[in-house]
Amino acid sequence: MNAKQLEYFKAKLLEMRSDLINKLNERYNDALSFGNDGGQDSADEAYNIYNKNIMLGKVETDALKLQLVEQALGRITSGTYGVCIECEDDIEERRLEFVPFARFCIDCKSEMERKGLVKI
Ligand SMILES: [Zn+2]
Repeated sequence: MNAKQLEYFKAKLLEMRSDLINKLNERYNDALSFGNDGGQDSADEAYNIYNKNIMLGKVETDALKLQLVEQALGRITSGTYGVCIECEDDIEERRLEFVPFARFCIDCKSEMERKGLVKI
């Protein structure tokens, strides 16, 4: 991968990172304040707990994504970006276009998914 491509993916990753941080802050605050307005009956309460869990689940996925974005930025710095961390083959550029924080080539990713080891 040449310097220009690295620059391109780095910009993409940085943008993704600030988006995720914003989203996480919003969701986290939403989830925390959800159902704290008082005066509900117990059905409302159950519904609120249910919603809170869904929101926290989303926060978890975004937090994981953020972690992967950070790691990808680290790989750009260390010069190993775009290389599969499993088999060390190049990751398809088309794949990086959609998933700039991809750690695995498509073959390793499919294999991991099959074994249930990764979600993203
Ligand atoms: Zn691989």
